[in-house]
Amino acid sequence: MALEQTAFDTPLDADPELAAAIRGELKRQREGIELIASENIVSPLVLAAQGSAMTNKTVEGLPYHRYYGGAEYADAVEQMAVDRACRLFGCRFANVQPHSGSNANAGVFLGLLALGDTILAMDTAAGGHISHGHPATLTGRDYNIVRYGVSRETERIDIEAVAALARASQPKLIIAGGSAYPRSIDFPALAAVAREVGALFMVDMAHFAGLVATGQHPSPFPHADIVTTTTYKSLRGARGGIVMWNDPALTDRINLGIFPGVQGSVLLHAVAGKAACLGEALKPEFRAYNEAVVANARALAETLAAAGYRLVSGGTDTGMILVDLSARGTTGDIAAKALEKAGLAVNKNLIPFDTRPPEAPSGLRLSSNAGTTRGFREEEFRRIGAMIDRVVSAPSDAAVLAAVKAEVAALCADFPIY
Ligand SMILES: *Cc1c(COP(=O)(O)O)cnc(C)c1O
Repeated sequence: MALEQTAFDTPLDADPELAAAIRGELKRQREGIELIASENIVSPLVLAAQGSAMTNKTVEGLPYHRYYGGAEYADAVEQMAVDRACRLFGCRFANVQPHSGSNANAGVFLGLLALGDTILAMDTAAGGHISHGHPATLTGRDYNIVRYGVSRETERIDIEAVAALARASQPKLIIAGGSAYPRSIDFPALAAVAREVGALFMVDMAHFAGLVATGQHPSPFPHADIVTTTTYKSLRGARGGIVMWNDPALTDRINLGIFPGVQGSVLLHAVAGKAACLGEALKPEFRAYNEAVVANARALAETLAAAGYRLVSGGTDTGMILVDLSARGTTGDIAAKALEKAGLAVNKNLIPFDTRPPEAPSGLRLSSNAGTTRGFREEEFRRIGAMIDRVVSAPSDAAVLAAVKAEVAALCADFPIY
């Protein structure tokens, strides 16, 4: 398979400078262990769909209601992605056009809220996502953002605390789902809070959508009014986002919020990639994959806990783990750099109530998503845990880093990605 080439086997050598960078990236992915939670390894089918001639077609509007002609196949591809999303998640409506998860969220806000409305969302310092109204974003400027955190004792969402904030701030929208929250979320309880204050309830399931698809995590439907997700993390597919909902009264407002609200014409090659990954997610193999994602994360978490690491919230219900390094005499930035030198890709992360700055936080975020895709099971994740411990315990010991790097290379050679 010519994956160093384009989808049509056109030699990348026509542009040697570009070819070197693309091949370098493929080699990096082949030879390193990917533990970054926002990444995964897509199938050759998804690669082919994203690299297809669909990229040449410009369409605006929705399938079968386009502004430009020649949209027969574009309509087929987009409708396929919509139908598969609805089937996979058990909902009535979907918009598969968002260019990213952030655009999916911004489109929902634009479609359903008025300027200055209050949004109650999880604080990024407690694991929330930046696209839920961080002050540095456009949505942070356009809406009044009230933030909830986690309980200091349990490091989990405290429903009573969220309810108290909701009663005091009377939000129009409550958002659940974050980028560094390793536990499952009580959707019925948060939906009840939203109903009580007359707010819409939105779940952004970017990090656990794959688990929802196959029942390893409770579904936000029918509790959430709106569900958003990215398609390239746990769903293992094309880059981009999706919005889903059940109430027909929301349909026009959400669709108009996406286009023309926050973006223009459709990235049809990405929509083709979404149709491809949603098709794969509907197959029985995807359930086996997600069962392994959860079991593998648990094996990694247990290995680290046994080696003396404190895990935020005490463990994980998903594929994600947040490790607190503060008692280990190192920080997330130092550990992440050392791990990268040893062939293990992770990201530094704030932990709840972190006393350190985001550039040099106390935590590391890990995920079993990508490693599980390449075939690692619990035994390999226990080995990965031991390797992480060796590196984090001696981040400036070149001999340790080199030894671990050799072990990583050997493990990766046994589990090729393409
Ligand atoms: C990754 C993520 C997003 C944003 O995705 P982009 O595609 O980077 O815009 C949104 N919400 C959550 C919870 C995420 O984890």
